[in-house]
Amino acid sequence: MAVVVDLIANDPRKSAEAAPRHPEKAKRPDTPVLRKPEWIRVKAPGSKGWAETNRIVKEHGLITVCEEAGCPNLGECWDKKHATFMIMGDTCTRACAFCNVKTGLPAALETGEPAYVGEATARLGLAHVVVTSVDRDDLEDGGARHFAETIAAIRRLSPGTTIEVLTPDFLRKPGALEIVVAARPDVFNHNLETVPSRYLTVRPGARYFHSLRLLQRVKELDPTMFTKSGIMVGLGEERNEVLQLMDDLRSAEVDFLTIGQYLQPTRKHHPVARFVTPDEFKAYEAVAMAKGFLLVSASPLTRSSHHAGADFARLQAARAGKAGR
Ligand code: SF4
Repeated sequence: MAVVVDLIANDPRKSAEAAPRHPEKAKRPDTPVLRKPEWIRVKAPGSKGWAETNRIVKEHGLITVCEEAGCPNLGECWDKKHATFMIMGDTCTRACAFCNVKTGLPAALETGEPAYVGEATARLGLAHVVVTSVDRDDLEDGGARHFAETIAAIRRLSPGTTIEVLTPDFLRKPGALEIVVAARPDVFNHNLETVPSRYLTVRPGARYFHSLRLLQRVKELDPTMFTKSGIMVGLGEERNEVLQLMDDLRSAEVDFLTIGQYLQPTRKHHPVARFVTPDEFKAYEAVAMAKGFLLVSASPLTRSSHHAGADFARLQAARAGKAGR
């Protein structure tokens, strides 16, 4: 029997909203959500640490991708007070087939948000913070300045915290990427999400080579900045395509690759083509390390921001080790 998890149906905000959460997907045929294999088991939210994280997030009026994307690691991460802040609202201007973030026309930017994120980072006592955002194709700079202001506010209010940004592609808006790099985050992450042959179905508003070029450009602008990218597997890609993508990322000098299993948020989202086994993830990790990444995280529950703090320390150690050779 298939267990159907429909986060839309379970979302208490749904009843308060007249509009559907993903209007562009409303007319799509339903696809059954496959039962997860036994190797995908997660900690349920509800611990003391989770409650404390939840309180601080809500008190500052912040949005997290942990909740909006329905991340399976929320119970584990929030227990350790690791949350990934999603800035510039809860509404995305794209319509990716895999993503559970609400889509539509976003509201105006909240100018106080950078300071709220900085305060929450300090109160959570985060050694490393990850900040991501919805796509804001409606803004003239794609939200680049808001990212830069958020980085500056975290530096001011929580000076000991290292900062990782996970950005959209800024729709090739001139100067946007440069604004974010000039704000000097410690890690610049931009996810390719999938192999090029799946883009039209999975990530129709984006272009594979533009995303790759964006990552390459970060290194050209600041060779000391760590770069990172991630993909989901189980979307119908071939193994050879994943290996080619690894080569493409190495050509762009990307330091850190994350690979995780795609999970279907609702019946209207892209179906899971298959569940990749833990051994296959280990094999991907071994090949990617051999191709020269400083760090690779590949497992069914790997997500861009999962264990990001510990991984940042490993990245630094890997770079220092390479320099000492
Ligand atoms: S993996 Fe990332 S998005 Fe998921 S709960 Fe952890 S911090 Fe949040």
